[in-house]
Amino acid sequence: MKIHEIYKKNKINKKPTISLEIFPPKKSGKIEMIYQALDDLGSVQPDFISVTYGAGGSQVADSTLDIAVCIKEEYGIESLHHLTGIAASGEEFQNSLKAIKERGVENILALRGDLPMGIKEVSKAYPYAKTMITDIHEFGGFDVGAACYPEGHIELSSTTENMDHLRQKEEAGANFFISQLFFNNDSFYRLLDDARASRICAPISAGIMPILNRSQVEKMIFMCGVSLPSKLIKLIHKYEHDVTELRKASLDYALEQIDNLLAHGVDGVHVYTMNRPSVAKTALRRYKG
Ligand code: FAD
Repeated sequence: MKIHEIYKKNKINKKPTISLEIFPPKKSGKIEMIYQALDDLGSVQPDFISVTYGAGGSQVADSTLDIAVCIKEEYGIESLHHLTGIAASGEEFQNSLKAIKERGVENILALRGDLPMGIKEVSKAYPYAKTMITDIHEFGGFDVGAACYPEGHIELSSTTENMDHLRQKEEAGANFFISQLFFNNDSFYRLLDDARASRICAPISAGIMPILNRSQVEKMIFMCGVSLPSKLIKLIHKYEHDVTELRKASLDYALEQIDNLLAHGVDGVHVYTMNRPSVAKTALRRYKG
């Protein structure tokens, strides 16, 4: 099923679209962990599960596809295959699309990606995600999602350009958007207002990530340029030396964010699970009934 149809069906039924993100483990031996997580998540049936795509070579890329196929075939849940273009030639990109289509995956999240260590040059074919979106539609047979940034992309200082670039992705054919994680819902509501004022109509899901520990948050801040509200900083400070309590408190914080987003009538919520089923299960049990 195409993901835009899921958003459409849920909208008619006045329900939000709840999705999850998982990532393939870096070492192929740890792939079992993912299947255990999926076993755990099977019972709560999210609307779709997305699988990230590293720029780390064919083994990682293959496991993204294997996991996306497994989600669809073994668990009966729609899957969304992330795909990056920053290091790909036109031919490599076409080969990836061919492989994904042959295995029956129907949805791709088109991402420029970030340059992997050791590679200095951006792909001439895909300097921006919008070019990938055009090519995926030309290839045919896929729904295409794209990323959006409530606080602006880290390389960008102007909010006007943030909206221009989002509009270009919709014009290229993006069927839906998933946001970068954020910890202050007001930034997402501003993005929604700006997008709708700019006549961007595709559904936009809010990206929520329950934090696991202080170092993970620090990494995210510098990688993504997201800001931390003082309430969350105080919480991290309070439980800095007690991981269990920190995870409990941060899950409550994320659930509060989701409650507020759903009360606001957002199209969807996308939970960055960090491959931890307990987090996603708590969220899903609460929102999928
Ligand atoms: P783009 O939309 O191409 O934007 C990249 C930069 O270029 C931005 O600063 C943008 O404002 C600017 N820009 C866009 N168009 C133009 C233009 N016409 N002229 C000038 N500047 C322009 N990374 C991975 O490696 N693997 C993943 O699986 C992955 N999953 C992600 C999932 C989500 C939901 C999100 C939000 C991000 C994900 N990322 C992933 C990270 C993503 O690859 C990075 O944020 C990357 O830096 C930007 O990707 P993009 O597709 O948004 O790029």
